[in-house]
Amino acid sequence: MEKIGLPMPVLRTPTVDPGEEFTAHSEDALLDTFDRRARDLRISLTDFCNLRCTYCMPEEGVEFMSRDSAMSGDEIVRFVRIAVEKFGVNQVRFTGGEPLTRKDINDIIAGVAALEPRPNIALTTNAIGLDKRAAGLKEAGLDRINVSLDTIDPETFKTMTRRPFLKRVLEGIDGAKAAGLDPVKINAVLLPGLNDAQAPDLLQWCLEQGLSLRFIEQMPLDAGHSWDRTSMITAADIFALLEPRFVVTPDSAPRNGAPAEKFLVADRRDPERILGDVGIIASVTRPFCADCTRTRLTAEGRVRTCLFSRTEVDLLTAMRDGASDEAIANLWKGAHWKKLAGHGMDTDSFEQPQRPMSAIGG
Ligand code: SAM
Ligand code: SF4
Repeated sequence: MEKIGLPMPVLRTPTVDPGEEFTAHSEDALLDTFDRRARDLRISLTDFCNLRCTYCMPEEGVEFMSRDSAMSGDEIVRFVRIAVEKFGVNQVRFTGGEPLTRKDINDIIAGVAALEPRPNIALTTNAIGLDKRAAGLKEAGLDRINVSLDTIDPETFKTMTRRPFLKRVLEGIDGAKAAGLDPVKINAVLLPGLNDAQAPDLLQWCLEQGLSLRFIEQMPLDAGHSWDRTSMITAADIFALLEPRFVVTPDSAPRNGAPAEKFLVADRRDPERILGDVGIIASVTRPFCADCTRTRLTAEGRVRTCLFSRTEVDLLTAMRDGASDEAIANLWKGAHWKKLAGHGMDTDSFEQPQRPMSAIGG
């Protein structure tokens, strides 16, 4: 579509033979064979969640990991320290499952905030309970927050999350603003026939509330494996949904490897007055794999080089067996070296990972 207007990203070609056995390269960095360098660490704090979003978790029968198999707060801070000191990681995002269900989250954030050099610390949350936690999180050192909210209609919220908790989420967002967390970004996934037609209302509400909205294309990471490429709401669909009410123009500010393409928004009746922005994360139709700077740890301390990885490397067992920082860093480097060029969602050989999004960390 014309307004998206940016060139389609292309995958990189390998700089070395990716099949080559890894012998720890001497550079203090997380590199892969496509010459990408990861500086952005996403850590899942838990696979537990108090919502059951249909695109993420099954309705029932979820088996959560045991408390012992999850990383402790000290183990998490040690992994982040290794990533900061050995790989130059400068961004850490805590996610889940629902990260606020971890009682020690403030201690984890404070531990990371005390590292030298201090990385930027972000959190992705469903905001339940955030009204009471936001001030403490900010005080601990939280820099940025993303709240997931797909609709402001209570019935649709209940259908999509299988829980009647919209009011609690809205209170959480108010709490984040009151605590001075700025900006508060909103993540929304649109599902056909459920909340897609509400996209303009959600954007309008976010603009009025001073919140920065990002639409995320639904990815095949639902526990029910019901994702359908032919019916998912694409970035192009989102533009078509917004167009009758808004004028949406590409933001010329550099993207700097960020997954969201940013656009400035004005009301169609007053197109000169910019009201705010909206982002589109088009992971399916416009993948940004060639510029990916991420590495991920699951709550059990396993490295995943991509949301769609089919393999994981267990760092936590090595840590618990007494491995040195150096040895852990080498295991991590070896895992990252094998990062694939792209997620391959649009290829015939694509297979959905066994873990749903809640157990990977979105
Ligand atoms: N529970 C927290 C939350 O919902 O913000 C953090 C974890 S959640 C897995 C992180 C993000 O992943 C949320 O913004 C959610 O909307 C997104 N997500 C979950 N499943 C997804 C899917 N199948 N496709 C695209 N985004 C998804
Ligand atoms: Fe829970 Fe977040 Fe998954 Fe929704 S998207 S079920 S809030 S982990």
